[in-house]
Amino acid sequence: MMNDYIKIADLLFPDVKLKPEDLEKKYPPRNLPDGAFVTRFAPSPTGFLHLGCLWATLIDERLAHQSGGVFYLRIEDTDQKREVKGAMKGIFDFFEIFNLNLDEGYTQDGDKGNYGPYIQSKRKEIYHVFAKQLVSEGKAYPCFCNPEELEEIKKNQKAMKENTGYYGKWTKCRDLTYSEIESKIKNGDKFIIRFKSFGDEKKRIAVNDLILGLLDPPENIRDEIVLKSDGLPTYHFAHVIDDHLMKTTHVVRGDEWLATLPIHVQMFEAFGWKLPYYMHHAVLLKQEENSKRKLSKRKDPELALDYYSEVGYIPECLKEYIMTLLNSNYEEWRMANPQADLNEFKFTVEKLSPSGALFDLNKLNDISKNYIAVLSTDEIYNRVKNWAKKYDNDFYKILDERQQYAKDILSIGRGGEKPRKDITFMSEVKNYVSYFYGELFAPDYTMPESFGQKPEINKVIIKNIAKDYIDIYDSTDDSIIWFDKIKELAAKHGFAPETKLYKKNPQDYKGSVGDVSMILRIAVCGRQNSPDMYEVFKIMGKDMICNRLQRFTEEYK
Ligand code: GLU
Repeated sequence: MMNDYIKIADLLFPDVKLKPEDLEKKYPPRNLPDGAFVTRFAPSPTGFLHLGCLWATLIDERLAHQSGGVFYLRIEDTDQKREVKGAMKGIFDFFEIFNLNLDEGYTQDGDKGNYGPYIQSKRKEIYHVFAKQLVSEGKAYPCFCNPEELEEIKKNQKAMKENTGYYGKWTKCRDLTYSEIESKIKNGDKFIIRFKSFGDEKKRIAVNDLILGLLDPPENIRDEIVLKSDGLPTYHFAHVIDDHLMKTTHVVRGDEWLATLPIHVQMFEAFGWKLPYYMHHAVLLKQEENSKRKLSKRKDPELALDYYSEVGYIPECLKEYIMTLLNSNYEEWRMANPQADLNEFKFTVEKLSPSGALFDLNKLNDISKNYIAVLSTDEIYNRVKNWAKKYDNDFYKILDERQQYAKDILSIGRGGEKPRKDITFMSEVKNYVSYFYGELFAPDYTMPESFGQKPEINKVIIKNIAKDYIDIYDSTDDSIIWFDKIKELAAKHGFAPETKLYKKNPQDYKGSVGDVSMILRIAVCGRQNSPDMYEVFKIMGKDMICNRLQRFTEEYK
C-alpha cells in the first residue's frame, strides 16, 4: 500500500522534485532571544481593512517588538476570486499610516527577509512539496468528485439526517487505487487534494488559547481540501505550512477561525510539527439601545479603516484608543505618562479580554480632541493640509495659498495652559475656519434664542451696533482697549457695560455687553460660536471686518 501512495504522489506531482527536508533547510530556526515572539499579519487582498485588522496588528506588533522578536507581513492571496484591485496598496498604506514597523514581509519593493516568499501565490511549489509528502504517506488523496456529486452526497446526508460534509463513509475518493486514479487523470478529470482526517468525533482536542483560555472542541472528522483544482492551497493548508516554515510562534487572528481550529491542529499533527500558540481575538461590538451587537461591514461604516481616513481621524488617536481597549491598565499608564511614546507601555497578553470589546466612538472622539488640542500650530496645519490634499482639493488650495494666515487661524487657543478642544477630526476644520475665507463664508445671521426674552433688542438696534462698530474697530488696539470700546458701544445703545450690572438690574438695560459682543460676532463671523473674538478679529484684519459689518447691515432682515 505504502508503495502505491508513493506512486500516486509521483503521478499527481511529477514535477515536484524538492523534498520537505530541502525546504526545512531553507527555513532554519530563527536566531532570536529566548521568549521572543514571531508574529504576522496575514491579510487577504480583498480591499477591506477594518478595525479588527488594526486590533490584531497592534497585538502582533507589540508582542514581537516588545520581546525582541519579529513581526512580518504575509499576503494571503490564494482565493483569487476574492481579490480586489488596489487592495495591496491599501495594505501597504495601512502600515505606513499607522506606523506599524514591519521587520519582514511583502513590501512595495518585493520581499524583505529570509523566510519568503511572503505572498502565497508565489509559494505554490512549496505547498506542492508538502502536499506530495502527505499523499506519499497516505495522509492525503486526490478527490475527483464534481459539484453535482458533492451535491448528491449532501442531499443523501440530509435525507438521512446526518451531518453534511466529506467525511467517513461518504468519502468516495478516499480509497481509489493507483490505476483508478491514473485512468481518471488520463481522462482529463479534474481533481483536488483532500486531507485524510484521522479524527474521531467522540474525542476532543485541547488547545490553550492565550486569549480565550483552554479550548476543547471535538476533533475534526472531515476530509478538508488541501489543494484546490487550480493547484493553490486552501487557507487551512497554507496557514499550517507557512506558519511552520516562517517560524511563527503566535498566531493572532479573528475568532471566525475558531471553528476550523481542529483542522489546523490535525494538520500540524500529521506533519509532526509543533503547534504555534493561538490567540483568537473577539469581535468589536457596538452598543445599540439595550443590546450589544457585532460591528457589521454592511451596517456600520465605522468598521472600515477607510472611514477614519476619510473623516480625517488622526491615526495615532485610533491606535491610542485601541490600546485602551486591549489592555485595561493602559489608560492609567497614559494618565501617568501623558507624553510617553505608546511603545513604552508594557503590553501584556494576560490583560487581553476574552470577550468582545465595545467600540465607543465618543471615547475615540475625546482622545482625538485632547490629542489635537496640544499639537503645535505647524503640526495641525500640516495634518489638515495633507488630509485636504487627498479628500478636499479646493480646501487644500485655500490652505496652501496663504499659509501664514491659515496657521494664524489654527493657532487660536493653542499652546496655553488650557488649550481649546474644537477639533476632533480633519474634515471638521473646513467648517471651523470657513468664516475666515471669503470663498467659504456662508453666514447665518440668526440671533440667539435669549434675545427673544429681551424685546428691546430689535433689528434696528442690532444693525446700528454693527454699523457703529465699523468706525470703532482699530487693529492696533490691545485686548483691554478693544474690549473697552465694546463696552462703550454697549453703553451708548442702552446695554449694561458689565454683565454684573445687568444681572443686578436687568430692567434698566436692553441687554448686556455680552449681547453686544454676540451681535458683533454674528455680524462678522456669521455664526454664534467662535473662539476668542479679539484674536479672531485681529487675524481677519480691519478690511474684512468692515466688509462683513457692511454686508450684515445690508443683509440682516
Ligand atoms: N487571511 C486570513 C484572513 O484575512 C488570515 C487569518 C490569519 O491571520 O491566519 O482572515
